[in-house]
Amino acid sequence: YPGLYIVATPIGNLGDLSARALAVLKACVAVACEDTRVTGKLLHHAGIKQRLIRYDDHADGSVRERLLAMATQEAVALVSDAGTPLISDPGYKLVREARERGIAVVSVPGPSALIVALTLSGLPTDRFLFGGFLPVKDKARRDVLGELGAVRATLVFYETSPRLLDALAAIEAVLPGREVAVARELTKKFEECRSGSVAELTDHYTSHPPKGEIVLIIAPPGEASTDDLDIDALLQAELA
Ligand code: SAM
Repeated sequence: YPGLYIVATPIGNLGDLSARALAVLKACVAVACEDTRVTGKLLHHAGIKQRLIRYDDHADGSVRERLLAMATQEAVALVSDAGTPLISDPGYKLVREARERGIAVVSVPGPSALIVALTLSGLPTDRFLFGGFLPVKDKARRDVLGELGAVRATLVFYETSPRLLDALAAIEAVLPGREVAVARELTKKFEECRSGSVAELTDHYTSHPPKGEIVLIIAPPGEASTDDLDIDALLQAELA
């Protein structure tokens, strides 16, 4: 059927490409992607030959126009390098315009690193706030942590390994005592999700410099780790 198909792809383990994703990627007339080499490899692995069209929300509108024109006649798939398109990845403008023009938009759901990390973290999942990538500059990063840290929700951020220690230092400065989890290499061979105080995680990742992609998860206010509680003051109050 004609339309724009938002197709999630694996974030590491190729076994996570769904049967429905495979069927759509095979049947569509073209696949819009961030990087034709990355998507080319995935499709090659799946035994699919497809027309690949590089798409980026920020590029001039002509590629978008072409994709939308195609989607009125046939099925066009949108994928990103990994995970769910539009989630810290291109696609928002394409979906918005497709909807405005009455073109069918269909989701073919699958992995997203933020959900995988949240479910592994052991932190509350009933209410969470996804903050996208933490800013690179320290002042901006601290501002975001200050603003979102006041919200009663678990916070989820995307991060890169070279910036992890700086991000942990900013968390300790702005949100002292919060329990944190670092999820790395999700669905891959060396998947890990390590949680604890910022001091514990900083110690660990100073002696074991992290590699690969990272999701940072921060406990909501009031979920402070016991390190942060003034045990003496609590005991005094109890005894008084
Ligand atoms: N759209 C993707 C999704 O749905 O997860 C996210 C794309 S964003 C450009 C890339 C970021 O996602 C990485 O910097 C990292 O924070 C996170 N990420 C993606 N794959 C990951 C993995 N296998 N393990 C940990 N984090 C991952």
